[in-house]
Amino acid sequence: MQWSELEREVIRCIRCGACQSVCPVFREMRAESTVARGKISLIRAVIRGEVDAAGPAFAERMSWCLMCRACQESCPSGVNLGELMLAARRKLAEDNGLPLLKRLIFRLGLRNRRLFELGMGLGAIFQGLLLRPAPGGGGMLPRLPMGLDRRRLVSPVVARPFRARVPARVDAAGARGTVALFTGCMINYVYPRIGEAVVAVLTRNGFNVVIPAGQHCCGTPVYVNGDVPTAVELARATVDAFADLDADAVITACGSCGAALRKEYGPLLANEPGYAEKVARLAAKTRDFAEFLAAAGLTSAMKGLAATVTYHDSCHLARSQGVRGQPRELIAAVPGLTFTELKAPARCCGAAGSFSLSHYGLSRKINDHKVDDIAAGGADIVATGCPMCLMHIRDGMNQRGVGGEVLHTAELLARAYGEEGI
Ligand code: SF4
Ligand code: SF4
Repeated sequence: MQWSELEREVIRCIRCGACQSVCPVFREMRAESTVARGKISLIRAVIRGEVDAAGPAFAERMSWCLMCRACQESCPSGVNLGELMLAARRKLAEDNGLPLLKRLIFRLGLRNRRLFELGMGLGAIFQGLLLRPAPGGGGMLPRLPMGLDRRRLVSPVVARPFRARVPARVDAAGARGTVALFTGCMINYVYPRIGEAVVAVLTRNGFNVVIPAGQHCCGTPVYVNGDVPTAVELARATVDAFADLDADAVITACGSCGAALRKEYGPLLANEPGYAEKVARLAAKTRDFAEFLAAAGLTSAMKGLAATVTYHDSCHLARSQGVRGQPRELIAAVPGLTFTELKAPARCCGAAGSFSLSHYGLSRKINDHKVDDIAAGGADIVATGCPMCLMHIRDGMNQRGVGGEVLHTAELLARAYGEEGI
């Protein structure tokens, strides 16, 4: 949505206030400017020239949003707050420029895949200077503040990314189909075991998996920060790499990557000649791992898992892609496992990508409610379909001393199959 088109979206807000009861940021900050209604009023004031978009107040208020779209889901007028926020952040990036660090990462690093890979490789070698192993295991803690809260449990960048560990094609015995895997950055550089679990579970269930080498970042961190030119480049590269592959489906195992491929590339590439059909083909072919497997059906018997498991809905998987029942269906199919629901499984965990870097204190408070819910349920394992949620919930549980593991749904299933090392 262009800035010039926003007026017709903002006037749809009838100021009913229904968004207040679902907004995780409003719940913590209790200020009208943090909820959808307040943000819309501010955007309207900017459109009318009553507020200066270049001032720090507008940028600050537009940053107070997880892009969880809970407000959108509950809005009786159907206001597309997500698109309003993206348009506002795009205007801010265009008018004020991006902060230096984001400019370096997005414009220099992400625009050049080889350079980005080199940067991640160097990061894996030198991260020990900045991070130390957490006393209880399970991740690393910052040695210095360096933009990260020193209590924050982070997962290190791996020395060998997922795409360097696996062949470009893994065949299944007696295959019933072939899928292509979009790995995303978190799985490739931080959680290769999730990727290995996805491949193991899909091949056990009769699907060859191809992993195109030329793939890169989906662009989510870039477009949510308003850098549309870089996001367009990344979207084009993904569409070029995947849209015309001879595969039954393109599989994603990250809620945000899947939402980008299915929902965000259409508007992003609307003005790119020759892309409309390719974008539509890719969107139609893209499936979340659990969504695809539940529809295809499990054909291979699991050994089972004696554990109590609960499930956290990633906002981008549940709200943006509508994948809610399928992961639960797969988890419940594990022999010996007891499934228990959280009280509020779809409440945002507070991660929201770079939001948890720029607003860590707030994202922690939001995460506390998730951790309280997990602790009250007493599950041994929390499963989820998004690596970013996984990292943030692990961090919260570690800081609060709440026991239990956090696994991707694919890791849980791989473990139920008895896969070594998962
Ligand atoms: S729920 Fe929708 S219509 Fe109601 S105040 Fe919020 S944004 Fe406006
Ligand atoms: S998207 Fe989420 S965080 Fe942002 S205003 Fe809506 S409910 Fe609040």
